[in-house]
Amino acid sequence: MDYFIQRSNLDKFVRMQASSILASPISAIKGLGPKRAVIIERELSIRTVYELLFFIPNRYIDKRALTPISSITLENSIVQTQGILQNIKLVKQAKGYRLSAELIDNNHRLELVWFKGHQYIEKQLKEGQSYKVYGKVSRFQDRFSMAHPELSQISIQSEQDFRGHIEPLYPIPEKLQKDGITQRLLRSILQPIVKSIDFKLYETLPAYIVKEQLLIDKTSALVHLHAPTQMQETQRALDRLKFEELFYMQLGLLYRKIQQKTAIKGQRFEAVGTPFLTFYESHLPFELTGAQKRVLREIRNDMGSGLQMNRLLQGDVGSGKTMVALMACLIAIGNESQACIVAPTEILAQQHYQDIASKLATLKISVKLLTGSTPKKERTVLHEELRSGALHILIGTHAVFEDMVTFKNLGLAIIDEQHRFGVAQRSKLWKKAEVPPHILVMTATPIPRTLAMSTYGDLDISIIDELPPGRTPIITSHRTDRSRLKVFGFIREQIKLGRQVYIVYPLIQESAALDYKDLMDGYESLCREFPSPEYALSILHGQMSAEAKQYEMNQFENGTTQIMVATTVIEVGVNVPNATVMIIESAERFGLAQLHQLRGRVGRGAHQSYCILMTKDNLSEDARTRIQSMVKYRSGFDLSEIDLRLRGPGDLMGTQQSGSLQLKFADLVDDVALMSTIRALVQALLEKDETLALQEHQCVRSTLQMLMRGKLLWSYIS
Ligand code: ADP
Ligand code: MG
Repeated sequence: MDYFIQRSNLDKFVRMQASSILASPISAIKGLGPKRAVIIERELSIRTVYELLFFIPNRYIDKRALTPISSITLENSIVQTQGILQNIKLVKQAKGYRLSAELIDNNHRLELVWFKGHQYIEKQLKEGQSYKVYGKVSRFQDRFSMAHPELSQISIQSEQDFRGHIEPLYPIPEKLQKDGITQRLLRSILQPIVKSIDFKLYETLPAYIVKEQLLIDKTSALVHLHAPTQMQETQRALDRLKFEELFYMQLGLLYRKIQQKTAIKGQRFEAVGTPFLTFYESHLPFELTGAQKRVLREIRNDMGSGLQMNRLLQGDVGSGKTMVALMACLIAIGNESQACIVAPTEILAQQHYQDIASKLATLKISVKLLTGSTPKKERTVLHEELRSGALHILIGTHAVFEDMVTFKNLGLAIIDEQHRFGVAQRSKLWKKAEVPPHILVMTATPIPRTLAMSTYGDLDISIIDELPPGRTPIITSHRTDRSRLKVFGFIREQIKLGRQVYIVYPLIQESAALDYKDLMDGYESLCREFPSPEYALSILHGQMSAEAKQYEMNQFENGTTQIMVATTVIEVGVNVPNATVMIIESAERFGLAQLHQLRGRVGRGAHQSYCILMTKDNLSEDARTRIQSMVKYRSGFDLSEIDLRLRGPGDLMGTQQSGSLQLKFADLVDDVALMSTIRALVQALLEKDETLALQEHQCVRSTLQMLMRGKLLWSYIS
């Protein structure tokens, strides 16, 4: 969703403000002047007084304390002190001038020095007058001095003004400071505004929430930010604005979700149907885990509700998402609909196809595969069967999105590994049915909770947080080249036990040529290390044809080869339960999510499995954290939180989705708990008052209306 408000709407919003001065253009502010107003508008996109209020200080200096010169003892401390000015001296030096003066207080002295701007400063200095100075203290032998202090003369009549205060510092770009948009200027125009009696902002949070959550009201928050009298006030103010920011983010998402649900009809699947029941009762190869059952119930409820399902299914590698997908398809089929599953790679699509087709072999359900390499003749037949409804489940790559592909009645679309498909592609599937199909998006790359609540906040989320029973946790270790021989020895042992091994090389776009060389060199030396006929190796990489890839995969799957040397093509979905060792070369070059995905290729059978991360000796700090985290944590959810800390939300989600992540006050890493609280609160609010009709929610309603229309960041709302 677009969180921006159009200018015209902002105007309306501003007009809602009780005080009319807030709606006036900044050029009307006394003391700013038209020239500087133009600069501020152009460079900071601040047009009205109201917008100016949201130009929030990023730091404060506490100028309340006054340290007598006699008490200055620490070098480098920042102090404010006062005294009488004496001994002004200007000395010519090799380069320029050195201006100095002494500040004297009860026979204690502090030297003040300037190396620049002496003409300007000298004019301000008057011997025998009292001054207050503020700055960093340095020490030469036993004498203290302060270079380029902030300086103000204390006159009897203005003593009041200098009683000491907390001074806000605004994030003014240097360039603007040169144009006269200085800290002093901003302070001088903002202070009178926030201190004026008719300064009152439209309160955007319901009174009962402000009260229950112990928040301060909005007007106080802004007063405190621009003119605090206590340091804690600024924190309370930020807390309030942060709350509001998250409140409207969640409200926007959840409100939209409700609207979508009421606006878009969904196919109602009355019963789970015969195929599901038959499969469940007599073809299920294993007992479902508690989490699988729970998630299936959630899906079942969605599909029976008459509303369109839009659900994100998160489950760690190996948690058994495919079985959930399969059974969801059976519900669709049992309700005279078709289903399709889209995977991001050909290998993955193949794998799903084989997995699902074999499980359904004895049921009268037709499953077919459609990928880029499906021959034309087969394709024509397939298209025909889809249109007639003879084909029940279509599994494929993005070839499925093509316009040629039309269904008789598509009831369920499942997208595996969501992060590889964009939203636009997702919506293409919608158009393939009169009433949009139910959508289930599956991902094995767990999304940190705050991101799930923001980026995917308008989807329902199901989580499989339990692995099938009988899995022994994978042992992960970190090795360098020095242990390579031992690692090879270990591989031999495992192969002797009948197991199989993956060895993965990085393949990064920017260095693809070199990476391919590494892969090939690696493969050759491995061939020497593990010679035939005792050993057989497979190789798999992106430059091979689809048939060659498939051939090598088959060789490995049926156990003809024991070692699979590969790039990350095998990252997603490959399932060979007999493989127990995953060796990742140059592991420091992989991201956490990828490492975790790769590790998930082993540990799929009953045997103890291992993941060995090979790296060079010297690692960057981030790389070390990644490797150590891999050794320490098993759960993809834990790793995703670490990843978020290391990389930040923008990087993690890609630019495409970062729009909704531009928060001004809240932090997606640190505010997990707060975001959950607020989401629950908003949920409760909407449950009670879905249309925001209650009197107490009128402020929410009007604020949300502004927000939903258009083009302005949160920051002006909160
Ligand atoms: P992922 O969530 O990574 O897609 P899969 O669906 O590929 O995981 O499942 C991983 C393996 O676990 C498969 O071999 C699958 O057959 C098996 N599996 C799934 N659910 C169960 C279960 N409830 N009990 C035992 N094995 C299961
Ligand atoms: Mg899977």
